[in-house]
Amino acid sequence: MSQTLSVIEPATEAVLEELPRAGVEEVDAAVARAKAALPAWRSLSPGDRAAALRRIADAVEAQLEDLATLEARNAGKPITDAQGEIGMVVDTFRYYAGAPERLLGDTIPVAGGMAFTVREPLGVVGLIVPWNFPLTIAAWKLAPALAAGNTVVLKPAELTPLSALAFERIALEAGLPEGVVNVVVGPGSVCGTRMVEHPDIAKIAFTGSTEVGRTIAAGAAQTIKRVTLELGGKSANVVFADADIEAAAAAAPGAAFGNAGQDCCARSRILVERPIVDRFLAAMDDAVQQIRVGDPLDASTAMGPLISAGQREQVAAYAPDDAPIAIRGKAPDGPGYWYPPTVLCPIDADAPAAVEEIFGPIVVVIPFDSEARAIELANDTIYGLSGSVWTRDGAKALRVCRAIETGNLSINSNTSVRVATPFGGFKQSGVGRELGPHALDHYTEIKTIFYATGAQ
Ligand code: NDP
Repeated sequence: MSQTLSVIEPATEAVLEELPRAGVEEVDAAVARAKAALPAWRSLSPGDRAAALRRIADAVEAQLEDLATLEARNAGKPITDAQGEIGMVVDTFRYYAGAPERLLGDTIPVAGGMAFTVREPLGVVGLIVPWNFPLTIAAWKLAPALAAGNTVVLKPAELTPLSALAFERIALEAGLPEGVVNVVVGPGSVCGTRMVEHPDIAKIAFTGSTEVGRTIAAGAAQTIKRVTLELGGKSANVVFADADIEAAAAAAPGAAFGNAGQDCCARSRILVERPIVDRFLAAMDDAVQQIRVGDPLDASTAMGPLISAGQREQVAAYAPDDAPIAIRGKAPDGPGYWYPPTVLCPIDADAPAAVEEIFGPIVVVIPFDSEARAIELANDTIYGLSGSVWTRDGAKALRVCRAIETGNLSINSNTSVRVATPFGGFKQSGVGRELGPHALDHYTEIKTIFYATGAQ
């Protein structure tokens, strides 16, 4: 493997930057730095740790435009999306800046003394993140990990390392002590594997494919490492006949083609009650034709290219020439990994495009005839990350939400992710929760202390 990594801009196929590629030695050095920084960081007063997180938030906010441009170029995402994502990085640090002073414990009545619990940091935490929302997903892990007093080694995806490197520099400039955040840029098969087996890493927080998640869970078992896994999805967008059909159809493309479909929360299976399928598809066609696919740095662009030639090839295999293409949008020609928004219908519920996570701008539309069948179809997957229910019947919406085996649902909306609410998967979509108050549980251990006071 080459010692140099060429970082590519997916919209032009040009080399954005050449970087040295880390290996096992660099991972070990980063873990050693994180371990050395741990005692001082974990014993910093909660108020000072909170202030450090606030300073990071302010510093990222001050450089939001530059970071968004970097992310838009490296990941090929529309600049307006990138601005929103860096804004979420800021919000995530501000939210968890409230945590160090609120890591509360319990007092528990016992005989002979006082028992109480405290939350301790885990130690050095390894963060392994993907290329689809590079700095945002890193922040979901960094902020609660640091708030709880851990130090970290962060491995971004080799395809999109630039915003993580910029963040490391910004955090240092904002006064974060050396060694608290350590970024290592190198291949998952080498650096990620070393992080998973490293005896001085207490936990791995991973976002990526279910396949790599399985490898990480198996590897972590050797040292009984804690793991949280945010993995794939094949989420259902369930549209009942009594819904605001035009609103559901207008929103469906954004939920399937946002980030060019490279989103674990993509509502990539649209289940539509049979009597309204034609009306839904007609309205969706209008919305798809309006999606502007093009230059990520143009503020009017709604969808950029795919991340790589390999990803485009993998995605295109789901819609060969004889595929049932009901709707197809437009995409530029020429350099760049472009692929048009594509809707497949009619399609069998067990066809590969309806079952596998495509991670690209292809969505399937499948009719259903009853509430029970909609639930059955929604649950007929190894995944369970997100989903939507569209209906004007509130009781039905809640009934269906309770019956769908998935971590994040929205009613008459397609949103999944908020800084203040827990996010994560059922079934093979993952283990643990990120964001919201619950993420802190995954970056702390509970310690019980008994203080003998004599007979009572
Ligand atoms: P991966 O799961 O392969 O990569 C995610 C991260 O894990 C990257 O940083 C990667 O490093 C690292 N990694 C890869 N192999 C290992 C390993 N053996 N041990 C530890 N870390 C490892 O996703 P890809 O980027 O390759 O995408 C493949 C497919 O995964 C997509 O088509 C999509 O279906 C799915 N995916 C799902 C995501 C989600 O959010 N649910 C996010 C990204 C992908 P590096 O890439 O630098 O080698």
